[in-house]
Amino acid sequence: MEKVILLRYGEIHLKGKNRGFFDNQLIKNIENVTRKIDSKCKPSKVGGRYLISEFSGENLERLVSACTKIFGLVSLSIATKVPSVPEKIIEVLNDILSNDEFDLQFAKSFKVDVKRADKKFPIQSTEFERELGGVVLDKFPDLKVNLTKPEKTVFVDIRENGSTFIFADKIKCCGGMPVGTSGKGLAMLSGGIDSPVACYMMAKRGMKLSAVHFHSFPYTSEQAKQKVVDLAKLLVPYTGELDLYVVSFTKIQEEIHKKCKDGYMITIMRRIMMRICEKLSEKHGFQAVITGENLAQVASQTIESMTSTENALENLPVYRPLIAFDKIDIIEIAKKIGTFDTSILPYEDCCTVFLPKNPLIKPKISLVEKEESYLDMENLVNEAVENLELIHLS
Ligand code: ATP
Ligand code: MG
Repeated sequence: MEKVILLRYGEIHLKGKNRGFFDNQLIKNIENVTRKIDSKCKPSKVGGRYLISEFSGENLERLVSACTKIFGLVSLSIATKVPSVPEKIIEVLNDILSNDEFDLQFAKSFKVDVKRADKKFPIQSTEFERELGGVVLDKFPDLKVNLTKPEKTVFVDIRENGSTFIFADKIKCCGGMPVGTSGKGLAMLSGGIDSPVACYMMAKRGMKLSAVHFHSFPYTSEQAKQKVVDLAKLLVPYTGELDLYVVSFTKIQEEIHKKCKDGYMITIMRRIMMRICEKLSEKHGFQAVITGENLAQVASQTIESMTSTENALENLPVYRPLIAFDKIDIIEIAKKIGTFDTSILPYEDCCTVFLPKNPLIKPKISLVEKEESYLDMENLVNEAVENLELIHLS
């Protein structure tokens, strides 16, 4: 009996002529993830499914957990693979029932669900369901058949390629589109709750991400930076390998503090962050900046503030996937993807250094530009980009 993992995909089946592009990227992503866990395992395509086979049993759990995080997949099943021959299917089902792999011993009701994608299979689905139901009842005579609300279901999926898959559960995956099918973005990653969730959301729509973090050593600690590296690592199962650019913001903040009016600190800081993102994008081909901003959450996230931040960019869009989320919903996702506990560790962010008592809530662009004219902007930006540290996470 060969155990395999059967993977089902979602939205890409809607793609007409481009379907091959999405398919190829998804199988490449599955290969990248599974190869790291088990070098022998082979992902392949069977009809409308993907299949992972030839792995060693001890790796099953890790493979399943990793696959639930691959965007583009909607569900998976741990299945037993059998040739599509009625007698063989019955024989293997008997073995599965003897081991009680499907936990039927203490169940009250069940049904058998046969899908016959292979129309050459000699028995029609309903007839075969009845026959297999009899096999189950022979082993567990106290079970009742319930076709509408069974406690347990025995799925038998007869595919086009001569293989049949028997399984008990469908495990939910994350859905979305395969990473690498929706362009390249640069995510601004702070140590907070929001930005890792923003990364997750964009990767879920198929965007390939890199991340940038600004720190102000020695005003911010080494631990604050490590926290962001840890967050980025937690994102890798969803985003695939990730380049993290760590940019020192210390000199820039000191210069703003020295030369510009107090209330403008945050606005100017954020505008310079954007300019650095634009420089990095020109160099590495990023097509958008991603932030975890959220309307009305804090002073720097009013429409006016976000507009003035964005205004510093010449030719790059800003995507804010969390703009209309409630904090409670963001937290729920952060918990689900496993970044929450790290995000709430109490290390300072560079935005809290030199924080003015009264930050501007509605900054006027002309006045912001006037304050910025006291800075040697081009050199500050170039120097920050030249001295950044690149951390590759995989
Ligand atoms: P988060 O929870 O993501 O930190 P926040 O609610 O604390 O967000 P802000 O501190 O105003 O909000 O930051 C808004 C967005 O700006 C962040 O979501 C992030 O994308 C970006 N950002 C803020 N600080 C940094 C930083 N030090 N490095 C990189 N990006 C940052
Ligand atoms: Mg923050």
